[in-house]
Amino acid sequence: MTAVSPAEADVIVIGAGLAGLTAARELAAAGRDVIVLEARDRVGGRVLNHTLASGHVVDVGGQFVGPTQRHVLGLASELGVATVPIFTGGRAVLEIGEGRHDYRAVPRLNPVQLADAGRAVFSLDRMARRVPVQAPWRAPGAAAADARTLADWARHNVRTRVGRFAIKAFSEGVLACEPGEVSLLHVLFYLRAAGGFRQLTEVAGAAQQDRFAGGSQLLALRMAEQLGPDRVRLGAPVTRIEQEASRVVAHSAAGAVTGRRAVVAAPPALAGRIGYDPPLPADRDQLTQAAPMGSVIKCLAAYDEPFWRQAGYNGQATSDGPAARVTFDTGPPDGSPGVLLGFVTGAEARRLARASPAQRRAEVLASFARYFGPAAARPADYAEHDWTADPWTRGCYGTHFPPGTWTQFGPALRRPVGLLHWAGTETATEWSGYMDGAVQSGKRAAAEILDALPRS
Ligand SMILES: Cc1cc2nc3c(=O)[nH]c(=O)nc-3n(C[C@H](O)[C@H](O)[C@H](O)COP(=O)(O)OP(=O)(O)OC[C@H]3O[C@@H](n4cnc5c(N)ncnc54)[C@H](O)[C@@H]3O)c2cc1C
Repeated sequence: MTAVSPAEADVIVIGAGLAGLTAARELAAAGRDVIVLEARDRVGGRVLNHTLASGHVVDVGGQFVGPTQRHVLGLASELGVATVPIFTGGRAVLEIGEGRHDYRAVPRLNPVQLADAGRAVFSLDRMARRVPVQAPWRAPGAAAADARTLADWARHNVRTRVGRFAIKAFSEGVLACEPGEVSLLHVLFYLRAAGGFRQLTEVAGAAQQDRFAGGSQLLALRMAEQLGPDRVRLGAPVTRIEQEASRVVAHSAAGAVTGRRAVVAAPPALAGRIGYDPPLPADRDQLTQAAPMGSVIKCLAAYDEPFWRQAGYNGQATSDGPAARVTFDTGPPDGSPGVLLGFVTGAEARRLARASPAQRRAEVLASFARYFGPAAARPADYAEHDWTADPWTRGCYGTHFPPGTWTQFGPALRRPVGLLHWAGTETATEWSGYMDGAVQSGKRAAAEILDALPRS
């Protein structure tokens, strides 16, 4: 006789990314029955491992972890997943227009222009310190900051080419969108939630310091393993959620599952594609209409050895030229193999998403060769993932709020709707947009439910 999986639980979790799995793990640990419904045939969502031909595992999704990211580091330590530092020895490359600068600490640029960029960063950080992460719409001057884009702010506050480069590189590299697409208030919230510009952009002591040994997806795989296949159901895209007075029913290709509460642990844009009965309140639905995903194609090239290390480079480049505008050496410390990682983001990602795979690969490798020499154009292996084309993510790294979103719809971001709770990195108040934020949001949603469903 075939065992039938139960169709009833205390809590239904929709989405088996880090947020949903964390929520499920916390709820199961507190003795609640939980069923996770995941659209894909795998767990992890925006964290995804890829095994190179050499056998080395790389991340085509979320990868870097920094020392202040206590939620994801705590989870990793509970799951026995170690961290490995990113290779940093050597010079980095900065390319602005036709100009190329190889540098160790600070590039040799016109001091007036460097000071202009420094002032812009200082002003953003100072404004960000006044933004309450729980309620950015209550920040002093929130209405004005949410009525303009980062580009508009930069037009009035940044005077030089290097200053403008710094703002564009930040927007494309960190938020995966152009400065004209994102609200200034959202940028300030993002800075505040992460602890400032330096935390977001640097390697040592900051967000890009380490990665997880065995790939970030290992965190999701281990949580799913602990929960077991009965609790984590793959290939179950939820199309409709019905709420009655004291129960909620989630409909998916895997059938209907009934619970006393549910957590939707998907980014707002994806949560908005589910049908709700009764319909969501207007502000929660309009939030999902007003919260787009960024655009990222993550590209990895593997080489028999990291030839750039021997030439004195650390594999890091920042540029405003074609294709990959940010690169890192993401290979193992011993250099076997050498791995270069390139991010194609924002408008450049949209341009290359329309190109053929062969054209895209050629352009990405040409950008690597511009930074580190012609050998970079001849990798032993190459992998890429266009997250804008991925039907269960539709863009990355996360969501950026355009003008008006925070002040008009912000209060609906985490507010439960009847028996429905919201998780996902977009709902986090620490490291929103990051793996750390995903884990924080999962714990918060689980705590809300444990409060609402005390043990009888
Ligand atoms: C290229 C790239 C690079 C990144 N780099 C970093 C980095 O270096 N460091 C860092 O900390 N973060 C990074 N991030 C961001 C990080 O990966 C995410 O913040 C985090 O993984 C989000 O987790 P989540 O659980 O909130 O959302 P997701 O991982 O998106 O999980 C949501 C889940 O819900 C599922 N789902 C959606 N709709 C439905 C439905 N209707 N029914 C059922 N299931 C559904 C999805 O399939 C998915 O599994 C990166 C992301 C990308 C893509």
